[in-house]
Amino acid sequence: MVKDTKFYDLLEVSSTASESELKKAYRKLALKYHPDKNPDAGDKFKDISHAYEILSDAQKREVYDRYGEEGLSGEGGGGPGMSPEDLFSHLFGGGGGGFFGGGGGRSRNAGPRKGKDMAHALKVSLEDLYKGKVSKLALQKQVICNKCDGKGGKEGAVKTCTGCHGRGVKIIMRQIGPMIQQMQQTCPDCNGEGEMIKEKDRCKACNGKKISSERKILEVYIDKGMQDGQKITFTGEGDQAPGIVPGDVIIVIEEKEHPRFKRKGDDLYYEAKIDLLTALAGGQFSITHLDDRVLLVNILPGEVVKPGDVKAISGEGMPGYKRPFEKGNLYVKFDIAFPPPNWATPAQLAALEQALPPRQPLPPHKGKEVEEVVLTTVDPMQQQRASHNGGQHDMDEDEGHGPQVQCAQQ
Ligand SMILES: [Zn+2]
Ligand SMILES: [Zn+2]
Repeated sequence: MVKDTKFYDLLEVSSTASESELKKAYRKLALKYHPDKNPDAGDKFKDISHAYEILSDAQKREVYDRYGEEGLSGEGGGGPGMSPEDLFSHLFGGGGGGFFGGGGGRSRNAGPRKGKDMAHALKVSLEDLYKGKVSKLALQKQVICNKCDGKGGKEGAVKTCTGCHGRGVKIIMRQIGPMIQQMQQTCPDCNGEGEMIKEKDRCKACNGKKISSERKILEVYIDKGMQDGQKITFTGEGDQAPGIVPGDVIIVIEEKEHPRFKRKGDDLYYEAKIDLLTALAGGQFSITHLDDRVLLVNILPGEVVKPGDVKAISGEGMPGYKRPFEKGNLYVKFDIAFPPPNWATPAQLAALEQALPPRQPLPPHKGKEVEEVVLTTVDPMQQQRASHNGGQHDMDEDEGHGPQVQCAQQ
């Protein structure tokens, strides 16, 4: 039994964790809490680094296990220990400096480079953005070989390539006529790796490549109210490679178009078609919502809904992101279904005449020439074509078929 589990707890491992488990745990947490990446984490990075510094040293770990933290402070010749930054860079190889900075212009020796971020689009239905969902996303990624811990072979098996002295490139001289040309070429002995591992010493699992491919399932939490284009970042889940800090996997939400609802921010828009009687005399219609609830909407008698009217149902829009109980509005735009031609008997029309407000009287047209005309039905296709071509032109081209002439003939 260990006296105190604080350091183990900090690294989120059990007190029986092996050296490589400790290393893995520290690597993961250090990436997460590194101040360049997570400036709000306070002393967390320092604390986990200190815990790892102690536990990764077999002697110090034994003292800690037996006497706890007090045992360590009393230990002779302790000194200030490694700074968290040094320890971190030690683990990832390379010197100090900011790891998560720009990358591009930085020289290779300034610290481990950060690997590429990988972005994936995830199409999400409006229903899922309304209700929230956990989506599983399978990802093929490169990971450090866990058999050889990214070394490519046994300890000490990796030798600097003698062909290129570890540079990975060779300068070759070529004589072309009187000229001597200097060319840089990828070292053929090591394939540009700069190092070599003897066939027999190579790690069997990765064949000396130090990395292997792994299928990883990411659980993507689609929170209620998330928006199109919103990003979900999985820190450090990008491809791993020796000497680099893995990049992030970034999931970008792509909202699928919905057949019935349109979304603007937290508001929803819906088009409802109701019959004329309901529009004039009241009644009900229903909207099946994104969570399959049915909203039974009442139109009060005498309310009078006109075509194109927009009314709101408050609090039935999308939930707010991170505040799911605050919902936007659901706006309903009305279309009115009028009855078909000749729907009514003369008696019904007479009843209508009784019921509806009286006709507007005609404006006076005294002294003007009055001509009575009849309306005809216009073919909407033809009308569209005519206005598209600019009516006049259409008539000029095939005389006698233009809409205006046709009207005159009937
Ligand atoms: Zn390996
Ligand atoms: Zn070489």
